[in-house]
Amino acid sequence: MTTRRGFIGGAAALAALSGCETCGVRSACAKKRWYKGNLHTHTFWSDGKAFPDEAVAWYKSRGYNFLGLSDHNMFQDDPDSWIAAVGDNEADFTPEWAKRPTRRYVFTAKQRYFDDYLTAFPDAKTRTTANGRLEARLSTFEELSARFNAPGEFLLLPDVEATRSVQYSDGRIHQLHMNYVNLPQLLPSYVEPGFKRIANDIPLGAFLGSHAKETAALAQSMGRPHLFILNHPIWRWYDVGPEVVVENPSVRFFEVCNNGSPFKSGEGLPSDGFDTDRLWDVANAFRMRRGQPLLYGIGTDDTHRYRGEPCDMLMPGNAWSLVRAESLDAASLIAAMNAGDFVTCEGLEPDDVSFDPSAGSLAVSAPAGLSVRTVRFIVTKRDFADKPVGKVTVRPEQHKGDMKFQREINIYDEKIGKVVKTVRFRPGEPVRASYTLADDDLYVRARIEECGATLCTAALHPQGVRVAWTQPYANPAT
Ligand SMILES: [Zn+2]
Ligand SMILES: [Zn+2]
Repeated sequence: MTTRRGFIGGAAALAALSGCETCGVRSACAKKRWYKGNLHTHTFWSDGKAFPDEAVAWYKSRGYNFLGLSDHNMFQDDPDSWIAAVGDNEADFTPEWAKRPTRRYVFTAKQRYFDDYLTAFPDAKTRTTANGRLEARLSTFEELSARFNAPGEFLLLPDVEATRSVQYSDGRIHQLHMNYVNLPQLLPSYVEPGFKRIANDIPLGAFLGSHAKETAALAQSMGRPHLFILNHPIWRWYDVGPEVVVENPSVRFFEVCNNGSPFKSGEGLPSDGFDTDRLWDVANAFRMRRGQPLLYGIGTDDTHRYRGEPCDMLMPGNAWSLVRAESLDAASLIAAMNAGDFVTCEGLEPDDVSFDPSAGSLAVSAPAGLSVRTVRFIVTKRDFADKPVGKVTVRPEQHKGDMKFQREINIYDEKIGKVVKTVRFRPGEPVRASYTLADDDLYVRARIEECGATLCTAALHPQGVRVAWTQPYANPAT
């Protein structure tokens, strides 16, 4: 019996004792354990509705092992950032927040947020301005790390959500949101805050690529490992189609599940079910055909709100990643994620995931559910068609604000992302399933699902289902 939180036991562990580096079975490393984390969180440093101390305390107190505070175009390093308390009828933001010529955001927050904060953190730094307003100083990343980090238990990672728009001469506007992790500063091109629009026609793929490149160069100059993540690619404005991801093989991570960006029908998700799972498979089909590295999918809360019903959109605690690493430090976590040794969870966690490259088999296990649990194994067949077989149209009336134009996304044939094996488990029955790659499979991944027992009504993908996603595993014979 293997357990998620404990060390891996049984035959796999015995194999591992002879050296997990060489045995090749991903689950077999006896000295590794799973660490739970969320890499997409906002605070008052940008447009999140909590002081950063409160955000970190929320996650740490609920057993998370790592967390990234990914404020928009902001790293939390300025020790002289203050926000002012305002009445309940005043706006949370000063409207000019995105236009300031300095890096500093200028935010305000309702008095009740201050009341909560000062009760929980009585040592918070406050001051009263000349006009009688209460202000509180925002804790920096360094201060938060010193307060909350605990060896082997909890680690705060540097994290930034690079947030930009591209405007095209025909009026279209696309946004790109990209998190980069473990680089404690802004990208050199992001010295100005806000969602700046760049009024030129740079293709979206090139724009994504330039950010990945700039981030990699920054990581190299700092001598630090990093992650670069494409966020919520199928936001209601269809920011990124699969071809954009295929075009950028250096982008290794994307959010298959994001709790901050609606996927509800009528808010951008067409009725024929194009979703982030489809995008993932299309990207990996073409990547494998071209000999490029696989794309991995993560799950995040994209937390903006901390007061509300659990499972609401933008609330914490709905989607996370479990990373199987040797120790709780940035280098180990990032190495494990780059190796694809992590699971993405929306309300459901596996006990174990193992891939045996010599047998070409993927095995998953999970605790018994209160209702039916299903394991689906998903592959892409080697002979999938290069050309799209259709298009999904996103109608303009489904959009809000300034996104009033039609977008289309390509649909590819059914040999991409094909469910090849489905195993169902009755309530109370432990989940154990495996699949062995066929010669014509390019890769395999699995989804463990539980229907009917979801607590969440949030606009998560997928809705109404608890899911754990494994990463894709390439066919070693490919
Ligand atoms: Zn975003
Ligand atoms: Zn975000």
